[in-house]
Amino acid sequence: MQITTMGIVIRMREHNDDRILTILTGEYGVITAYARGAKKLRGRLLSATELLCYSRFVLFKNKGQYQVDQAESEQNFFGLRSDIEKLSLASYLAQLCAQVAPEEEEADAFLKLLLNSLYLLEKGRRSQGFIKAVFELRVMSMAGYMPDLVACKSCGAYEKGEMYFLPLSGDLMCGDCLGAAENMVRLRLSPGVLAAMRHILYSEPARLFDFTLSQEGLHYLGEICEYYVIVQLDMMLHSLEFYKSLFSFSNDML
Ligand SMILES: [Zn+2]
Repeated sequence: MQITTMGIVIRMREHNDDRILTILTGEYGVITAYARGAKKLRGRLLSATELLCYSRFVLFKNKGQYQVDQAESEQNFFGLRSDIEKLSLASYLAQLCAQVAPEEEEADAFLKLLLNSLYLLEKGRRSQGFIKAVFELRVMSMAGYMPDLVACKSCGAYEKGEMYFLPLSGDLMCGDCLGAAENMVRLRLSPGVLAAMRHILYSEPARLFDFTLSQEGLHYLGEICEYYVIVQLDMMLHSLEFYKSLFSFSNDML
């Protein structure tokens, strides 16, 4: 059966002249497809099967296996490829999708989120830290790891003195109720950071990136969202380790 679908290459491995692609599509979620001879052909298939290329794929499906018959690049995010930090962050966002987006079922929201994030990153419309934090929390919530930040889990307060996020359970608790959960990992949230997290979780997709936060708040938000991904997945993705290593390297050099 032949199908045509739009998708972005979120992982690419080479094997001799062939490429094995992991593609995030809107209609079929994450799929693995074999692109025979993709590496040696000097044509559309070569450029359209690069990592982070958003392409129109014509795939042949047989017994659960996909083979790429044709591919034509629609958007290659060229501006990300000349900047090692941006490229590394983009690779991390792609790997996170490969990790948590559904396989073989509709995943249009994941595809749109990734494309929008890469577009903002490429154009520099938002800072790397901003895009990373928003993407991490939103993609996790879409993938079934949605924290409940509506109100204090215990007393139901929406805002009350000190508010804490419990990253292991994904719950929110106020300072008064925290007593019983004293030995749990908790992160204190300033009103600004809590509002930002609520926005990321509950806003319409079109407004997702439309909020502002102080530099200090953004830094803290970034740490919380990254930590949430690590504890919920119980691992640190290689691409995140690499992205973070770029900053420790440049700090060492100063
Ligand atoms: Zn409470």
